[in-house]
Amino acid sequence: MEISQHPYAEFLRTEMMPNIWCSGCRIGRIKNAFIEAIQHLGYDPDTCAVVSGIGCSSRITGYLNLDTIHATHGRAIPTALGVKLANPDLKVTVMGGDGDILGIGGNHFLALGRHGHDLNVFCMNNYGYSMTGFQHGPTTPLGARTITTMGGSPYAPVNPVAIALAAGYTFVARSTSSHPYHLMDCMISAMKNRGPSFVEILVPCMLFERRNKIKSLEALFLNKAKIKETLSEEDVDQNDFTKEISLGIFRDTPVREKPQLSLVKSAKKKAVKTYRVNFRSRASGIKYIQIRMEGTGGQGIVQGGKTLIHAAMNMDPKLNSTLTKRYGPEMKGGSCVTDVLLSAQPIDYPFVEVPDLLLMMSDIVTKERGGAVIINDKGTIVADESMVDLSLLDGLPSTVKVFGVPATQIARDNFRVVVANNVMMGFVCKTTSIIEKNCIKAAILKSAPPGTEEMNLAAFEKGYEFGKP
Ligand code: SF4
Repeated sequence: MEISQHPYAEFLRTEMMPNIWCSGCRIGRIKNAFIEAIQHLGYDPDTCAVVSGIGCSSRITGYLNLDTIHATHGRAIPTALGVKLANPDLKVTVMGGDGDILGIGGNHFLALGRHGHDLNVFCMNNYGYSMTGFQHGPTTPLGARTITTMGGSPYAPVNPVAIALAAGYTFVARSTSSHPYHLMDCMISAMKNRGPSFVEILVPCMLFERRNKIKSLEALFLNKAKIKETLSEEDVDQNDFTKEISLGIFRDTPVREKPQLSLVKSAKKKAVKTYRVNFRSRASGIKYIQIRMEGTGGQGIVQGGKTLIHAAMNMDPKLNSTLTKRYGPEMKGGSCVTDVLLSAQPIDYPFVEVPDLLLMMSDIVTKERGGAVIINDKGTIVADESMVDLSLLDGLPSTVKVFGVPATQIARDNFRVVVANNVMMGFVCKTTSIIEKNCIKAAILKSAPPGTEEMNLAAFEKGYEFGKP
């Protein structure tokens, strides 16, 4: 029989070869077992995605000719979850090392078991961080020498299988790179399980061997490991790999039912009231306008900017628009600025330099600027009188129009303070006539959290009543 190409050729990025692994490293075998598992399952390569973090084993994503992501250190699981949520039809597998998955990414590893998403985690356990010359990691055996524990690790290692079982993974198995067929079987079963699946794959690292004067971990695995059909609690333990190592499937269960929360009384669902605002789009006549909304975090400054953009788009879908936002380091209570540009032409630079319309929900930004109010000489300022020291606006040119509205006071007296931004929107709508009333109301409805639509629209109307045409 003539073989014209390598049987794995379809699954390999040959242009990336040779790989970076030390010659003799067994990670390549794990890669091959994974390819064979996909071939055995008959999966279309276009439906398989692999995500890895950082480390020797995480380099596997560079060589697999699938959709792969080489993510940041410890973040392979949340990245994979994002892929799965975006396209639930994909078979998504996380492949990486013990340091990446159990050390830096340990919290994500726990969370995946608890949350129950259909992802496979194939963790290559070589007992430390090998890419950095073999540093101590969460699975480093007690007493083992690494470059960060030269006198021997004083810490008890974690047991990956025990953690996966405790976290609630629906499939849990252990194999080694020295048992490729067993490993492939574990991978196949893991990929068939529809919940979070975990396979611990013991793999020798030559740096570990050298530093600990072990002639061959592979020989040790082959000698000590036993593949078992049924495993008991004692088999979970493998803290001392110089004794017996139990390989096999510890758990293979269907996806859990979502538990009924007995502590939470099930509230009768109210019939959802739907709100609708009709508007008609038209040419707005806006050529270029720079709008800035200033205030403190928690006042809905960014939300206000979004409302303005959506409202402008409702009115004139041909407009170009950008929104940029800036916060102080403290999100709530610190300064917050949202810039909105509306333009009939394409926008090259997304930031507002000198606003034509400035909405001041508080004076924190102006005070941080040393009292300087930035506004176009022919611009308009709308200030929340209940929050802004109006004397800050005294020195402005007489060509600047200034309007005041006690938006926060109105919101506090009639609704809740959080809707002050929509009181402001109502006032601005009536006073400036830049954007049509129903276009703003529809934009407010789009962003209002369910159940708050009525209050947000009423806040808008209050501000509108207060405005001057
Ligand atoms: S350092 Fe260890 S794990 Fe990394 S490539 Fe070399 S042998 Fe493999």
